[in-house]
Amino acid sequence: MQIKTISEELKKKYKTKVYKLSLQTGCSCPNRDGKLSYGGCIFCSEGGSGDFASPLLPIDQQIELAKARVAKKIPASIPEDKRLYIAYFQSYTNTYKPASELYPIFKAAIMRKDIVEISIGTRPDCLPDDILDMLTELNKIKDITIELGLQTIHEKTARLINRGYELETFAESYKKLKERGLKVVVHTIIGLPGEDKDDLLATMDYLNSLNPKLDGIKLQLLHILKNTKLASMYENGELGDSALPSLDEYCDLVIAALKRLDPDIVIHRITGDGPKSLLIAPLWSSDKKRVLNTLNKKIREA
Ligand code: SF4
Repeated sequence: MQIKTISEELKKKYKTKVYKLSLQTGCSCPNRDGKLSYGGCIFCSEGGSGDFASPLLPIDQQIELAKARVAKKIPASIPEDKRLYIAYFQSYTNTYKPASELYPIFKAAIMRKDIVEISIGTRPDCLPDDILDMLTELNKIKDITIELGLQTIHEKTARLINRGYELETFAESYKKLKERGLKVVVHTIIGLPGEDKDDLLATMDYLNSLNPKLDGIKLQLLHILKNTKLASMYENGELGDSALPSLDEYCDLVIAALKRLDPDIVIHRITGDGPKSLLIAPLWSSDKKRVLNTLNKKIREA
């Protein structure tokens, strides 16, 4: 099976590999600070699903720290001044501050020569018009992608995971983002409690049906991380076996999702990223190299 991966798409566009820098704006999340709830999504770690992000420093310092972290992945043959990056604002809800406070952060990142694009992780219920106006303005300088944590289209699961917004909210924000010419990547989670393959495929069908077309997707494995509500549910036996696929089962689900997805949708991720120090289960996911090798082999053979 052939899939469009983000690393290949970026390589074609910029004629070199582009590296993602994990950053933060210092925003909180309405699902954690009490505006919607204090608990957050049940799988969300204390780092706001951005455990690899740079500490909260002025943006240029964050970028330099993140560049130093990815440097070991970059071949020495690429000189430092030719290395290209995406500034990825990952932790928490990165549009959950007034536009006047966020603008200088995004603008400083976007104006750097080494940053070719910006990616902003947020929630669809945190995109008021003034934020959308700001993003539209910045999108004229360099491409901006908005990453929305949808996880599932099923309201029952959304309530169980305490997502805190309904599918209709996602649909409305998606429409506004696309009308303004912004790219959208949706995060989905495989292995959510109570969901089977048909539920997952129904989420893929919904994403295929979006008009204009969805730009990209992240397929992520449900990780059970320490100090989360999900960890308590797991320890209390409230999840059942279905929530924890084996590596083989996970691969089958990923392949089924990829086969169902519109092949023009760019695949940004086929597994998750959880820090080993926080991971409770599934433990096989801590060997990321093995997981990716197995998945990529199965995708090639599919
Ligand atoms: S929306 Fe994101 S940051 Fe907020 S609780 Fe959910 S996963 Fe965590």
